[in-house]
Amino acid sequence: MQTETVLNRCVICEKLNADGLEIMGKWICVSCETDMVKRNVDDVQYWYYVMKLRQLLNQS
Ligand SMILES: [Zn+2]
Repeated sequence: MQTETVLNRCVICEKLNADGLEIMGKWICVSCETDMVKRNVDDVQYWYYVMKLRQLLNQS
């Protein structure tokens, strides 16, 4: 069986990636997702992700 690779555009880094997951209808690539979970609240990059996600969720 042949599986076709589907590329999705990540809402965080805006790169096309085949591996990732959908969170509340928004697609996030696996590298952003793993990067996000390993950060903690005193990390600036964490808040960048939070803000980005909040904006995206407010759009729909
Ligand atoms: Zn990404």
